[in-house]
Amino acid sequence: ASGCPSAAGSGALPVLSEGVCAPLADGSEIEYAALDYAASAPVLRRVWEEVAAYAPRYGSVHRGTGHLSRLSTEVFERSRETVHRFLGCRPADRVLFTRSTTDSLNLLAAALPPGTRVFVFETEHHAALLPWAHHGHEVTCLPAPASPAAAVATAAAALAAAPAGPRLLCVTGASNVTGELWPVRELAVAAHDNGARLVLDAAQLAPHRRVNLTRLDADWVAFSGHKLYAPFGAGVLAGRRDWLDPARPYLAGGGATRRVSRAADGGVDVDWETGEARHEAGSPNVIGALAIAAACRALTEAGPEALAARERRLFSRLRAGLAGVTGLSELALFGPESARVPVLSFTLDGWESGELAQALAERYGIGVRAGMFCAQPLVRRLLGEPGQAADCEGTLRAVRVSFGAGTPEEHLTRLVRAVGELAAERARPARTTAPVPAAA
Ligand code: PMP
Repeated sequence: ASGCPSAAGSGALPVLSEGVCAPLADGSEIEYAALDYAASAPVLRRVWEEVAAYAPRYGSVHRGTGHLSRLSTEVFERSRETVHRFLGCRPADRVLFTRSTTDSLNLLAAALPPGTRVFVFETEHHAALLPWAHHGHEVTCLPAPASPAAAVATAAAALAAAPAGPRLLCVTGASNVTGELWPVRELAVAAHDNGARLVLDAAQLAPHRRVNLTRLDADWVAFSGHKLYAPFGAGVLAGRRDWLDPARPYLAGGGATRRVSRAADGGVDVDWETGEARHEAGSPNVIGALAIAAACRALTEAGPEALAARERRLFSRLRAGLAGVTGLSELALFGPESARVPVLSFTLDGWESGELAQALAERYGIGVRAGMFCAQPLVRRLLGEPGQAADCEGTLRAVRVSFGAGTPEEHLTRLVRAVGELAAERARPARTTAPVPAAA
């Protein structure tokens, strides 16, 4: 249902979730406050409008000769060019459309030269932590660093000590748990000085900061459309072609082949495509690609610096508000003053985090996330509890609040008020003189 009074305005970019009603436990309704952008961001109205304008012209990509097929192929390839510009790619860089960041990193893992050793911090999202060993590469899991400078030193030392051969460092641009920014440019220098390549997981960075591959000197970058205000199941892997072009095609199927024939020995002979098509088998997701390109255009036009400045302003107000709540502990790896995107995880005394997230939803119409955010080693380290088996929504939990370009300030003030009220409900009573136990 929609039709609740919306708090949007004051610099927020228009999103589709404006005015969507959230039912409350007491039977009333309130505008839904989407504060889980780090999982999936609301759709920018502008993205939706571009998709809607194109939808009647939708046709098969790279498949047909008809007018709409040609048009769709053009839309798909122009979207690739838009993303190439948005990411500040080098002229020869490839832009591959995938399903998501997870898919992009798995694609790169599948394309690495044989014998590549991959270095990754334990603080990564599982999507950046797991694909490498899964695709048969040796992995060195580096311990969580205490500061951005320590991250660079740790990575440099590990890469310098590694045996000769291809090496890849995989790093996040911004943590999906703490929002903390990682020193990507310095890590790229450390990687290159030690004969390694760097892939940037920009799933949380790209929605909040300009990502420029050339300036960062990163070799590849991966991100997801649904965190960049564009849903529709598409993501991107962009970067150097030298490891991608000769690699075994990521998926085997139509679109990735030039010639297929029955072999003399009764098998099947294949001559694979080169270029992007080599790793994009199957019918392309043209709506997903168009939506990502539309989001890139919208963010560029709004000005990434202006958006980041607004987010920084709102984020410091949010943190100042939450700092006044007794019993609230914020999760941070590099310390409370570290540079961040608007992602904040916390625990609250007296509340199990899942239960707290549910109370925020049912009593205040606020959507957050509770769990381990698919970054178990990091959350375990930050919560300082012994490890235990759990999935993404594991049994050790924190609550995560995250927002972005479409967030009105009212959603954040509502959250601060809600957390304050819920904290007060379960505040430990002030210590008084202990009652004298009754005699047995
Ligand atoms: N990396 C980071 C830092 C993320 O936050 C996420 C999503 N939470 C991913 C990778 C995976 O993204 P997706 O689920 O879109 O593949």
